[in-house]
Amino acid sequence: MSEPSYQPETLAVHAGTVRSQFGENSEALFLTSSFVFENAAQAAARFIGEQPGNIYSRFTNPTVTMFEERLAAMEGAEQCVATASGMSAILACVMGLLKAGDRIVASQSIFGATVNLFNNIIKKFGVETTYVSATDAAEWQAAVRPNTKLFFLETPSNPLTEISDIAAIAAVAKGCGVLLVVDNCFCTPILQRPLDLGADIVIHSATKYLDGQGRVLGGAVLGSRKNMEGVYGFLRTAGPTMSAFNAWIFLKGLETLKLRMDAHSANSLELARWLEAQPNVTRVFYPGLPSHPQHQLAMKQQKTGGGIVSFEVKSFGERSVKEAAWRVIDSTQMLSITANLGDTKTTITHPASTTHGRITPEARAAAGITDGLIRIGVGLEAVVDIQNDLARGLNK
Ligand SMILES: *Cc1c(COP(=O)(O)O)cnc(C)c1O
Repeated sequence: MSEPSYQPETLAVHAGTVRSQFGENSEALFLTSSFVFENAAQAAARFIGEQPGNIYSRFTNPTVTMFEERLAAMEGAEQCVATASGMSAILACVMGLLKAGDRIVASQSIFGATVNLFNNIIKKFGVETTYVSATDAAEWQAAVRPNTKLFFLETPSNPLTEISDIAAIAAVAKGCGVLLVVDNCFCTPILQRPLDLGADIVIHSATKYLDGQGRVLGGAVLGSRKNMEGVYGFLRTAGPTMSAFNAWIFLKGLETLKLRMDAHSANSLELARWLEAQPNVTRVFYPGLPSHPQHQLAMKQQKTGGGIVSFEVKSFGERSVKEAAWRVIDSTQMLSITANLGDTKTTITHPASTTHGRITPEARAAAGITDGLIRIGVGLEAVVDIQNDLARGLNK
């Protein structure tokens, strides 16, 4: 059921489903590390690739395959390769497609662990990374060298929700013969389909919205069969593949993704508008607000503003901005103080002292992450209850 005529929410429920001999309606969980063969000749045919079929769950597993087919249909990709986490998806992408001497150009507004992976791990194997503005396509063009092979970006960015123009950066990539990789974790294919806009590869941390209930870790790399060949080759040999159990959780998560993304988005917009009206809030960062500097681009590229809202508090009651921000966080009773996001439960984070705490104060200032900044991963509770929880600390 992967015909393009189906709507996204239909694909999310049906694409990829293969029933076993028992005719189960809900997708089966195949908890088995290996698969048996009818005879030695069949084993031999499978191992040399003459006959398709499962061999060992590090290579393929039917539950994982169903998840891959479903997400591929939703992103409009030829192939999806599932991984153990979002970080192993990025690692597999780099290891599968690059070699020593190649270069990456990356947005400077990407996930902290991705920066760490590029700067401190793959650099040891001779792949260098240059960072450029998330929002200025000309900087990407100017950073290209003859050995540049990959562009890497994330949009909207975390935590300031900067929007990268995927189509414009894809055009630069095409012109230079570079592959554009987009981490689509914050939007999911429900809100944004980077391959339709000219990107070559999509990355997911399935841990976030695809599960949507904060239970398990997983990731995915999606793109053409040609590009996925090397990615899959790395994974099946190196081993950070997705477990069947996690794939089964993600299959169920995808079925409700459309409903959840719509609800996360509606709650976020309402919360962002309310925050803009609070006297102790100086700035609100949300692509769905007309006050966002790239609101027009965001509304062209994404279906909604998404589920992440950040805001800055001012110092009030003789507290420093950091004390004021911590006061807001510590006065909440319902919100979860955690760095995770994409959960039914609303999460609240102080980026300057957690996710961005290990970079220098100068680098933090350059990135626009102030001590008064708070990030909300807006959940599915009634928005009035989220507002009341924040109001307690904001009005003190
Ligand atoms: C969480 C996250 C990752 C890493 O995913 P894990 O599943 O935690 O390994 C990568 N990119 C973005 C944008 C994320 O939010």
